[in-house]
Amino acid sequence: MTTALTTYNSKRDFTATPEPKGKKSGDAAFRFVVQRHDASRLHYDFRLELGGVLKSWAVPKGPSMNPADKRLAVMVEDHPVGYIDFEGEIPKGHYGAGTVQIWDKGKFFPINEKLEKISGRQALAALKKGELKIILQGDKLAGEFVLVRFKNDGKNWLLIKHNDEYAVRKKYEL
Ligand code: MN
Repeated sequence: MTTALTTYNSKRDFTATPEPKGKKSGDAAFRFVVQRHDASRLHYDFRLELGGVLKSWAVPKGPSMNPADKRLAVMVEDHPVGYIDFEGEIPKGHYGAGTVQIWDKGKFFPINEKLEKISGRQALAALKKGELKIILQGDKLAGEFVLVRFKNDGKNWLLIKHNDEYAVRKKYEL
């Protein structure tokens, strides 16, 4: 049977990698994780638990708490919810080879324009339309963020911190 995790499973050899095998979960808590992935190129994987999978983006520069930093976030294949706790070494010669460490994790809430919570189903519909607002409650990341898809581009998004009481605004550095 084809599931949302077919791509995830097809890229990995589970006899070699310590990563979890992909299977879909029931709709659960809205959790997020950011994993620092020191692979061929260092990046940060930003994942939101939605629709029984982790919707996932690779953020080359990592998320920022500064609204002036509009961070490129490249959508990648859905990951299984079990990946939310994954840390470890993906062996050489395998997809994503390198070290994965959890950089931040916590809860998130999908929200609408009026900052009201919306359902997981509404959040998935918002993603399909190319714009999702969320509130993050992590140790490093907090407050409102938005994910916005580039026009005419399926994979490239921006992850932007909104101006709120959690935002960090750096002054000119001398
Ligand atoms: Mn990665």
